[in-house]
Amino acid sequence: MNPHVIIDASYFAAAFLFIYGLKRMSSPVTARSGIVVAGWGMAVATLASFLYYFGVPAEVKPHLTVNIILAAVALAIGLAWAWRSGKTVPMTAMPQMVAIYNGLGGGAAALIAAVELLGAHANGYVELVVTIVGALIGSISFSGSVIAWAKLDGRINKTWRIKGQQVMNATVMLIALAIGAWIIFGMQGHAPALLVIGFFAAALVFGVLMTMPIGGADMPVVISLYNAFTGLAVGMEGFVLQNPALMIAGMVVGSAGTLLTLLMAKAMNRSVSNVIFSNFGVVGDEGQGEIKGSLKPAEAGDAAVQMRYASKVIIAPGYGLAVAQAQHKLYEFVKLLQEHGVEVKFAIHPVAGRMPGHMNVLLAEAGVPYDIIYDLEDINGEFATADVAVVVGANDTVNPAARTNKSSPIYGMPILNVDQAKQVYVIKRGQGKGYSGVENELFYKDNCNLVYGDAQKVMVAMIQAVKSLEG
Ligand code: NDP
Repeated sequence: MNPHVIIDASYFAAAFLFIYGLKRMSSPVTARSGIVVAGWGMAVATLASFLYYFGVPAEVKPHLTVNIILAAVALAIGLAWAWRSGKTVPMTAMPQMVAIYNGLGGGAAALIAAVELLGAHANGYVELVVTIVGALIGSISFSGSVIAWAKLDGRINKTWRIKGQQVMNATVMLIALAIGAWIIFGMQGHAPALLVIGFFAAALVFGVLMTMPIGGADMPVVISLYNAFTGLAVGMEGFVLQNPALMIAGMVVGSAGTLLTLLMAKAMNRSVSNVIFSNFGVVGDEGQGEIKGSLKPAEAGDAAVQMRYASKVIIAPGYGLAVAQAQHKLYEFVKLLQEHGVEVKFAIHPVAGRMPGHMNVLLAEAGVPYDIIYDLEDINGEFATADVAVVVGANDTVNPAARTNKSSPIYGMPILNVDQAKQVYVIKRGQGKGYSGVENELFYKDNCNLVYGDAQKVMVAMIQAVKSLEG
């Protein structure tokens, strides 16, 4: 059979698997299988690419053999690396892993464009424009994602801001665009290597400059934006290579990433341009104001007993739950409360933790049923009717300053209204701030007590306290 027929059929199957996999990811119940389905799609598309070897004329085969060997070696290295990191990376380090993998996708798209430009393969203005735009977006996504990875991984702790930042960024972008336009219209794609290198250098520098000033709480939106960029770049280079699998995969990633970016920006009550250009989440000492009240510690046992006799308890989990891996103990405690007739609900903030859906994944892992897990907009009205709100390792997502303090760097971000419950218990280890570095006035409120300790240890103590009541 003609290998091209098998390749086309495989790409069709891969496209179906990508889209079906994505569809399954829309619900936590089917998300796990959705990832596996999409993974099979990627395997089919990758393996089908090797079949090109059998469809080329005999005189091209020796040259292609070298490429096939290089591709197989690259694939083996990539597989081994991804397998290892997928198995070993802790849940809390998932965002930086997503950032770096996403960046590599953008980098790969940029490299395809580099091969096209250096070999002067692209024909006609449409193909050249698509190559250059894909190269630009892919390069920005690559260098920007590397910076995002370094920030999330704690390798870059400084948020770099200088005077005239926007002017400098605009200048670098204009340089990249000018060189790109020159390559397309001035040289019809036959540009010397130095010019092509200059174009990529400007695009890469822009990615770095654009990401360096973005701080704290905005990182999830930025990663998701670069994810959309990578998809777009891959789709464009797929068009240049006339490879339908790349085009479809790129467009699926590009549109899903764009939607996720918009949804996350909306969840933080921001526009995407505001996220990129306003340095939100960069915290100095300014704007935090003085907080009135005092920190009032409480014993885990006392808090647990109060919840045992409450009628309604709402739990707001955050990043600390993931650090402590306390989800199993937390659910054990919840089941104990339910056995005593307490109504328990979970309130999930869209950016709680360190990646979209982080808390849903943790709670699903512990077996918490989905019908007691609520999104912010569905539960926020209920805090006022709760006897107790328990904050387990969350901070920024429950900070009332976002609602009331116009000068706070997180002003405007929707938060969980835990402070409206009759009594609030916050479980945390000490005086640590949240991801954005902003002080939290919730902890000082009259109706709030702090239960100090690692979330898992505190949950064990709470379980014991309730059990000991039974004698
Ligand atoms: P925060 O990061 O604001 O706060 C976490 C709190 O958990 C800290 O105050 C810390 O205090 C406490 N903590 C840490 N370890 C433990 C532990 N072992 N046991 C108990 N407590 C612990 O968490 P939130 O979830 O409220 O907010 C998420 C933040 O992360 C937001 O600013 C969001 O924008 C950002 N972000 C979100 C992403 C996403 O996609 N969800 C991605 C990247 C960033 P202490 O040290 O005193 O224990």
